Amino acid sequence: MSYERLAALNKSHVWHPFTQMKDYNNEDPLIIERGEGVKLYDVQARAYYDGFSSVWLNVHGHNVPELNRAITNQLELVAHSTLLGMANIPAIELAEQLARITPNGLNKVFYSDSGATGVEIAIKMAFQYWHNQGARGKKSFVTMNQAYHGDTVGAVSVGAIPLYHEVFRPLLFQSHTIPYPYAYRHEGGAEGAKEATLHALRDLLEARADEIAALIVEPIVQGASGIIVMPEGCLREMAELCRKHHVLFIADEVATGFGRTGEMFACDLEGVQPDLMVVGKGLTGGYLPVAATLATDEIYNAFYADYSEQKTFFHGHSYTGNPLGCAVALASLRLFEERSMLEGVRAKALSIQNRLEPLKDRPHVGEIRQKGLMIGIELVRNKDTREPYEWAERVGVRASQRARELGMLTRPLGNVIVFIPPLASTESELAEMTDILAQSIVHVTEGCVLR
Ligand SMILES: *Cc1c(COP(=O)(O)O)cnc(C)c1O
Repeated sequence: MSYERLAALNKSHVWHPFTQMKDYNNEDPLIIERGEGVKLYDVQARAYYDGFSSVWLNVHGHNVPELNRAITNQLELVAHSTLLGMANIPAIELAEQLARITPNGLNKVFYSDSGATGVEIAIKMAFQYWHNQGARGKKSFVTMNQAYHGDTVGAVSVGAIPLYHEVFRPLLFQSHTIPYPYAYRHEGGAEGAKEATLHALRDLLEARADEIAALIVEPIVQGASGIIVMPEGCLREMAELCRKHHVLFIADEVATGFGRTGEMFACDLEGVQPDLMVVGKGLTGGYLPVAATLATDEIYNAFYADYSEQKTFFHGHSYTGNPLGCAVALASLRLFEERSMLEGVRAKALSIQNRLEPLKDRPHVGEIRQKGLMIGIELVRNKDTREPYEWAERVGVRASQRARELGMLTRPLGNVIVFIPPLASTESELAEMTDILAQSIVHVTEGCVLR
């Protein structure tokens, strides 16, 4: 099919996520045909670096022989059979692996098919955990300002990004919101921001722990709000406060999991052991939609009873534990070990940090935030006062458009330029990508070319 025909059909029939279709339909759509390594190729055979890992998913690159083979091998056996009341081989093997590599205590794996459904499950499990023990009052949740946990109604109820979530407010259950420690925009800097967060959490838990089921947090890096890195020690102290006040701690590792931050999970950076943990995105290397909610034995045991007691977790999805997805996840985890991915991420993170260092001196680069291979560059109109660009100026969008012209795909978060390359990117690929990143930013904010 020709590009023109595909574009016309796309316009006629496809409603794109997180997209104002009126703007989108005024532009020539990018239509991807194939991927190879860390590049994607459109139907007109133009190549682009996947500078945001296809929205933060991709780990080993595209069209990876080992991952492809895992899927075709499983396909010869069975594509799907349900996990409702029966099991399949890849789902069992993957559960064992996940229990092994996740923080201590998380022994039980409940599968689903997206980060949002994984979060939905964690919320329902936390609620019913208390319910099953007769603590009927513990039914509200604590979230952090600007949190993003996915787009289903439960996940939106613990979300706190007004632009996405406000319109749905009448449909949602109420959550308590505590400040996220956004050091760059806190007058007390990292230390002040951290204290404000811990202070708010402490006050809230002291007053109302008996009505709170759980706290949910994006550990170490809050993603969708603008790749905002927590001050050191904050996550650990939050977890300790929750433990002390008998409030469950839910780690949403959907974005940060699977090596993204330089550890397998962001919780590992501070030795935090959550009660519930949600993984998705990178779980299958970015190949297929599989997510999982991990729980401790303590939580699992609160559901473990005679059927007549009605403590069963009545929740599931058609494709829960999909064998193809679990098989490719297993193959991805094998590559993590064979290719020493975590060591690689740490080394690459350091070289990216060095490469981006000169950008800090540019007049409109407010802050460069980084943890592992998660990078956010906040652009500001005035560097001294940290005055943001007007929303309507769409600097982030324009910088990303420029990056695309120069051969790299990324998607901004407001005025924050996002750089989340596949973990498998080589040093030379990363060098080219960071060059494009710098050129795009300077082009849009200074109207010149970087030499
Ligand atoms: C992407 C994301 C989700 C939602 O995952 P989906 O697979 O898109 O539903 C949830 N939490 C965090 C932290 C995310 O980054």
